[in-house]
Amino acid sequence: MTIPTEPSTPTGLIFDIQAHSVHDGPGTRTTVFMNGCPFNCEWCCNPEGLSRKPVVMHRDGRCQHCGKCIEACPKGAISLGADGVETFDRSLCTDCTTYECVEFCYHEGNVLSGKRYTIDQIIAICQRDRAYWGSGGGVTFSGGEPLLQRNFMLPLLKRCREIRINTCIETTASLPSDYFMEAAALLNWIFVDIKNMDPVAHKAKTGADNALTLKNLRLLGASDLDCFVVIRIPVIPGWNDSEANIRATARFVKECGLEVINLLPFHRLSESKWRQVGEDYAFKDIPGMTLEDLKPHAQWVREEGITCYTGWETPF
Ligand code: SF4
Ligand code: SF4
Repeated sequence: MTIPTEPSTPTGLIFDIQAHSVHDGPGTRTTVFMNGCPFNCEWCCNPEGLSRKPVVMHRDGRCQHCGKCIEACPKGAISLGADGVETFDRSLCTDCTTYECVEFCYHEGNVLSGKRYTIDQIIAICQRDRAYWGSGGGVTFSGGEPLLQRNFMLPLLKRCREIRINTCIETTASLPSDYFMEAAALLNWIFVDIKNMDPVAHKAKTGADNALTLKNLRLLGASDLDCFVVIRIPVIPGWNDSEANIRATARFVKECGLEVINLLPFHRLSESKWRQVGEDYAFKDIPGMTLEDLKPHAQWVREEGITCYTGWETPF
């Protein structure tokens, strides 16, 4: 199996496409998850999408321990651990483009997290799903950071606009400003995470500071673009959940001329996926949060004059 790295027509590397999505923007939507991210958040819900190239996910529950992948890997990257379970040395996989461990696994114990699609293929999927979107739904681009794949996303967003597909994006906004604003002009809904107002704390847990995100939000707020902007804060216990940080975020949002914050409670649903991509999960000992836990945070946001929704209890 060879994954094309230099496609002749624009293609996007996509690790999942979910139909009937109700948590990724207004109405019922088709959500397209794009590979690659400028951040590396320790709590990421989709660790299989962080890399700009496909990643092999090893699924213990499916593996039959037949050893076929050990024989097939040309780099000797898989061996039997002391417990008799297949173990990957991921450092040997970094420049792999052939993925024999996936091709020769007949039990879906090893699966690839990225596949290339053309713009026509994504539009065809959207047209297929359009019947159940209803009047308020559409397509959402998520990830990873969907806007990293510029040569694919700009023409795709233009096509969506031409054929009146409602578009939504879940983005870090950590991108060059000219490009970010060009893409924003093609979107109906923009969901931007502000993870932490402190650039040092931001860098410590995401791998990058928040300067571009904040700059682009100022531009978005000052623009006359006809799109809805929602700020999301993934609330991470002990990191960004202090009253000082939540109020500072709300004040920044107000200063930008934006109006809505959606607080998302920390959850542990991605723990098994971190294991499948061969990484330690950083939040093993931290319990998930409930909507009840977020009541004080929501109150702080509202006291700063910003509309606040928690979890999926939103009108969008
Ligand atoms: S080929 Fe598939 S089922 Fe067999 S050991 Fe490898 S992952 Fe497990
Ligand atoms: S990704 Fe490539 S190098 Fe890594 S285990 Fe699979 S076949 Fe071997």
